[in-house]
Amino acid sequence: MQPRDLSEHVAYEAGRGIEEVARELGRDPSEFIKLASNENPHGPSPAAADAIREAAGSVSSYPKSTHTDLADAVADRWSVDPAQVWLANGGDGAIDYLSRAILEPGDDVLVPSPGFAYYGMSARFHHGGVREYTLEREADFAQTPETVLSAYDGERIVYLTSPHNPSGSTIELAAVEVIAEETGEDTLVVVDEAYGEFADVDSAVSLLEGRNGFEARDDVAVLRTFSKAYGLAGVRLGYAIVPDEWADAYARVNTPFAASEIACRAGLAAIDDDEHVERTVATARDSREYMRERLGARVWPSEGNFALAAVGDATAVAEATQERGVIVRDCSSFGLPGCIRITCGTERETERAVETVNAVLEELELEREPEVTDT
Ligand SMILES: *Cc1c(COP(=O)(O)O)cnc(C)c1O
Repeated sequence: MQPRDLSEHVAYEAGRGIEEVARELGRDPSEFIKLASNENPHGPSPAAADAIREAAGSVSSYPKSTHTDLADAVADRWSVDPAQVWLANGGDGAIDYLSRAILEPGDDVLVPSPGFAYYGMSARFHHGGVREYTLEREADFAQTPETVLSAYDGERIVYLTSPHNPSGSTIELAAVEVIAEETGEDTLVVVDEAYGEFADVDSAVSLLEGRNGFEARDDVAVLRTFSKAYGLAGVRLGYAIVPDEWADAYARVNTPFAASEIACRAGLAAIDDDEHVERTVATARDSREYMRERLGARVWPSEGNFALAAVGDATAVAEATQERGVIVRDCSSFGLPGCIRITCGTERETERAVETVNAVLEELELEREPEVTDT
């Protein structure tokens, strides 16, 4: 037998890991730094790491009360009802729950290009189709109502990413409101705030709750994750915050025990560890600033824990920096050839990355866009 027709499906291309690269090149893993997957350079919250160790003895039980406790803690953090918190196996898992809850076979979703691949993948798994709106490189990937609405054609879900991966641009809440207002009544606007902690903008939770001068809406949902600012990418924990009106759909679409006992305990510890998040955010700000100032290539302003740089032949540059021990992300798989995305590392990692990329650019003497160092 064969699986169903998967010819429209593509595999997710994750950033390459240190072990994987070291093995392939026959080198020692300690020679490498990985700045390819927007992971936390300070590791997990120490409190979460302790909680994971302590949870070891109780993993023979299904996670029931810890799941409730974490939903309560997240709800408390956002001042929403716990039922509005859809915990999941990573932000990606939350995207799947939204697909399950919203999409009928044949429904389309509208996604940004360049953009995060999993929105479209999830829609296809759920027998939906994918259409794109373009964030123009020439417009510095600006996200406006016009960029989205000019492509909109009645899709059931519209994905916005703020801060946007891989460019780092953000969208104002007033613009999200216009998009939600101008799209059909049956269109859900999902604001993916996977990098929200790193940005100087308010969360779109204001839109579904009717805060900060906005009217409450039932057609906006927010996506968040513990993978980035909290340093728990390996644990797989994320969530959607959805409007009260249809929050009860969760019970009918989720995989039983949507987040593991270990994930729930780690999340509970991490959500109270403000110090770790603050340190992480401060490091990312310094790092992205440094890259913008020092990289010998055009670097776009970023509100995330990464920076996008125009380097010409991105595949050649990423390969050459990897040879020199610095793993960065070739953005071709995001639909953005000619660019690399560099995750904000520690001060030392960032300096090494900049030095390495600059050396490679000089060596390859690649044609590239003129430097921009203003703003
Ligand atoms: C990392 C990321 C996510 C979620 O990742 P998880 O590890 O599944 O939580 C979602 N959206 C974007 C744009 C991301 O970069």
